[in-house]
Amino acid sequence: AHLDRIAEVEDRVHAFLHVGAESALAQAAAVDARRAAGEELGPLAGVPIAHKDVFTTTDMPTTAGSKILEGWRPPYDATVTRRLREAGLVILGKTNLDEFAMGSSTENSAYGPTHNPWDLTRIPGGSSGGASASVAAYEAPLSTGTDTGGSIRQPAAVTGIVGMKPTYGGSSRYGLIAFASSLDTPGPFARNVLDAALLHEAFSGHDPMDSTSIDQPVPSVVEAARQGDVAGLTVGVVKEFGGDGYQPGVLARFQEAVELLESLGAKVVEVSCPSFTYALPAYYLIAPSECSSNLARFDAMRYGLRVGDDGTRSAEEVMALTRAAGFGPEVKRRIMLGTYALSSGYYDAYYGSAQKVRTLISRDFDAAFQHVDVLISPTTPTTAFPIGERADDPMAMYLADLCTIPSNLAGNAALSVPCGLADEDGLPVGLQIMAPVLGDDRCYRVGAAVER
Ligand code: GLN
Repeated sequence: AHLDRIAEVEDRVHAFLHVGAESALAQAAAVDARRAAGEELGPLAGVPIAHKDVFTTTDMPTTAGSKILEGWRPPYDATVTRRLREAGLVILGKTNLDEFAMGSSTENSAYGPTHNPWDLTRIPGGSSGGASASVAAYEAPLSTGTDTGGSIRQPAAVTGIVGMKPTYGGSSRYGLIAFASSLDTPGPFARNVLDAALLHEAFSGHDPMDSTSIDQPVPSVVEAARQGDVAGLTVGVVKEFGGDGYQPGVLARFQEAVELLESLGAKVVEVSCPSFTYALPAYYLIAPSECSSNLARFDAMRYGLRVGDDGTRSAEEVMALTRAAGFGPEVKRRIMLGTYALSSGYYDAYYGSAQKVRTLISRDFDAAFQHVDVLISPTTPTTAFPIGERADDPMAMYLADLCTIPSNLAGNAALSVPCGLADEDGLPVGLQIMAPVLGDDRCYRVGAAVER
């Protein structure tokens, strides 16, 4: 049924870079065989899923949305991929994304943009825009994403679905093509909170293959999603997120969510997190710095594309030609920003200062969680904007992640749940619920109570 749905809408939505129809049917048959052989399979066995094309898969291409990886076949599966297979999920295909997950609209994909199923002239968010669109368009009931600065929560918000950024280190980065290694976090998309929790539990947890993976027992997010109540909890509204620059319809739905929380028995208080104001500039030093280092591996020798290797050129010339042809404009901008910020003489002023801001942001969270159980804010300042509107204005594009970035810098858990449609444009609005490090269960508990 999902393959039929993909065939029906995909030429308008363009959520996928690769659909493995035959492979999906074979995977489904294999799950049936495992069950027939008496294997105890989990609750998601046989359920189809769309997989972001930034996780390695041995049986499908993996491009990270870049020309530089066109035609590359990974020699191993990412841990997330492997765990999906073990849980019996059926991978339908690989979803579109901003090149190397850099962007908020999926317009930076080298393979063309994805369209928001609510309004095909609008963006589906990014970088996991293919993942959000595939679930919102009913092409898949579940999908995977990665969140470095908001790339799960922002696409979830603007397509009216649920998206979770787990605690950093709570889900494995092994086999995830790296953007900014200290921020990258795999997480689930679904159409409701319980489904997201089931997928979260299926692929997260300690992985010895990832040196930053957390080896600690965590409370069950599925139980928390089933519990779904807020009685007795204290909820903090982040004072810094709202007001000027926020769309009225977003603020109206957010206010209703606050009232709903109160009516369900939560105590709602205002909390100031003054350093959050500096999260965006700090992120745009740290993330490009890490990316400039991570993307050095695309050297024309190891992977995919190789340009100008005709026997007359040096390895360095081939590398330069390949990188010039293989990387898109946003990726080049980030590499230049990052190498500049890390260069000697500037390192302390830029990268060093950004790391200090990062510590201040963590302290704001720590102070807040002394007296509130969760913090809330709108997930994004506006609903989905038109394709093309911010494409030539990186600063406007970067603002889409204003509210989501602090949780990446601090590494804590954060969920986006739908909270209604904006009056001006009838487009979905997301409520962000932020919890302490390893407090992922709180996001699900509160999210399940308020989801609409
Ligand atoms: N939009 C942000 C960026 O462009 C975040 C992307 C992400 O989370 N992968 O960096």
